Amino acid sequence: MERALRVAVVGSGPSGMYAADALTSQDDIEVSVDVIDKLPSPFGLVRYGVAPDHVSIRSVRDTLDKVLDKPGVRFLGNVDVGTDVTLGQLRTFYDAIILTYGASRDRALGIPGEDLAGSIAATDFVNWYTGHPDMAPDAFTGFLRETTSVAVIGVGNVAVDVTRVLSKTPGEIDWTDMPQHVLEALASSSVTDVHIVGRRGPAQATWTTKELRELGELEQTQVIVAEGGDVGDPASQAAAADKAVARNIAVVADWESRSDDERPRRIHLHFRCRPVEIIGDTRVEGLVVERTELDEQGGAQGTGDTHAIAVDAVIRSVGYRGMALEGVPFDERRNVIPNVDGRVVSNDVPVPGLYVAGWIKRGPTGIIGTNKKDAVQTVACLLEDAASPAFFTALHPDEASVDAALGDAVVDAEGWRRIDQAERSLGAERGRDRTTLWSRDDLLSAARG
Ligand code: NAP
Repeated sequence: MERALRVAVVGSGPSGMYAADALTSQDDIEVSVDVIDKLPSPFGLVRYGVAPDHVSIRSVRDTLDKVLDKPGVRFLGNVDVGTDVTLGQLRTFYDAIILTYGASRDRALGIPGEDLAGSIAATDFVNWYTGHPDMAPDAFTGFLRETTSVAVIGVGNVAVDVTRVLSKTPGEIDWTDMPQHVLEALASSSVTDVHIVGRRGPAQATWTTKELRELGELEQTQVIVAEGGDVGDPASQAAAADKAVARNIAVVADWESRSDDERPRRIHLHFRCRPVEIIGDTRVEGLVVERTELDEQGGAQGTGDTHAIAVDAVIRSVGYRGMALEGVPFDERRNVIPNVDGRVVSNDVPVPGLYVAGWIKRGPTGIIGTNKKDAVQTVACLLEDAASPAFFTALHPDEASVDAALGDAVVDAEGWRRIDQAERSLGAERGRDRTTLWSRDDLLSAARG
């Protein structure tokens, strides 16, 4: 092999960056990697998913950033694969492509009333408070001003993030890198009550204990276990053998036993409540839930017993959803790209030169570190395939570089460094470490210096 193996990684979130790192941390095959992202800034959900007040989790960005400094790694930001360049075109420039574009869409509940004003997706709210360029600055200003009581559906870590952000005082959040318009809208929020609604019990919740505990440590907000907190059924007892589950149960039981909390705002936990309808004329006026019982596998079975929770907004936080990319096989049921250990397959046959890692490979689960192992597995398959001479003769990539096809709209690693510096300077003006630049125009003009 006379030239380096050319690999494109589509998506610069944790799995993409870990894949680029793994490709350039071995000596067997010389590799050059272009990490492509549709946004001008890298790091995907580390920037636009992890809550801004979770500083230690967000600091993984420093580790990912070092990958962009590695010889052989380039960042090509502001390039939307499918719009600015097709996958077919990319295939002519690269020997192999690793798709790591994640699962960015929300999942719907599929219940009546979901389209009423005041019913929103957690993914949009998270994108807004992290400063995603696709979210208008005033997207939730009216929502926050007009809402006093909100239901958050789902008992995972995103539901916890959203609840915490809604329940913090300005003093607890205004040191973060959230854009100024977000901090101002949160400061003028009317929300006093957040109802977290889980269709199963505390033993089946997917949140993690550290994140859950934080809900009990807020300055002005107490946690009330409103209903369904018991764990005496066989499925919950069996689940409690797992230490992480037992810790979650203990946190909920501790809240249930308290009676002297005088903090003025409230988080209400409703377990074993399956949402069946969002009621209202044009706006959300309440959420109807059906009580559930757990079967032996821990599944929720409706009991027919319904009641309404008085809320004026609903945030569904029931998971992310991956999207298909033109020209790539897609599993419509699981919303992932079908693969075996990261090799993309079509009707069980590997598609030469096409790989996948991260949430679009395995679904939207796991912590950031899960993506490292996942990306390493994919890269091992790619390198194993590339060790065969047939790998190159099969693909014949164009000797031309992708650069000419992309033009000068690309934001490279230097451009990203300028964005990074502009955000630090903006933050310093307000006594913070950083303030996120939210608009695409501002990001691009900062990138161009
Ligand atoms: P998740 O953990 O899968 O939680 C989704 C929740 O929605 C579950 O409680 C699920 O209940 C519920 N749900 C699904 N469909 C429902 C329906 N039709 N009706 C009612 N409830 C329904 O997903 P996530 O919270 O979006 O988090 C995604 C991943 O990112 C997770 O791995 C998470 O740990 C990670 N994350 C981590 C952090 C952190 O700070 N460490 C922060 C954010 C996200 P069932 O279990 O009954 O299906």
